[in-house]
Amino acid sequence: MNAIKYQIEYRKIKNLYIQVKNGEVIVKSPRYVTKRYIEAVIKEKEKWILKKLEENREEERNYTKEDVKKLESKLNIICPNLIKKTGLKPNKIRIRNIKYAWGSCSNNKNITINLKLIDKSDEEIVYVVLHELCHLRYMNHSEKFWALVGKYMPNYKEIRKKLKNNG
Ligand SMILES: [Zn+2]
Repeated sequence: MNAIKYQIEYRKIKNLYIQVKNGEVIVKSPRYVTKRYIEAVIKEKEKWILKKLEENREEERNYTKEDVKKLESKLNIICPNLIKKTGLKPNKIRIRNIKYAWGSCSNNKNITINLKLIDKSDEEIVYVVLHELCHLRYMNHSEKFWALVGKYMPNYKEIRKKLKNNG
């Protein structure tokens, strides 16, 4: 019996592998593999999985009201500046602790900025805000979209890479 909870995702792949992400254990497996075999692999990799789960927990940082205020005051300078420069004006800009993106832009022109950006450089925050503002014109990642981002931030590729690399 395994104490570890996991999900199985059957895929068109050759080899089984285990992913530990956001506190979840996902087994990606070819269809022909039996449950018994998966159990055995889980058992064998138990130590590694538990270590990964522990790392996941440590990655979760607790944000305080101070963090929100700090990011707010940064955005209070960055946003009006970029809105003036680009002529792109959102309805609302709000801060949320979101999981899978640095920012988002809705169809009703509301922009959400990830609270996690408080741990990033100003340059990175500027990039995310600019990126979302540009979505007010192009709701996609087309060439035109990137050209618009590049117009206001010629080195955006560099900054984007930086953001990606440090999670
Ligand atoms: Zn985007």
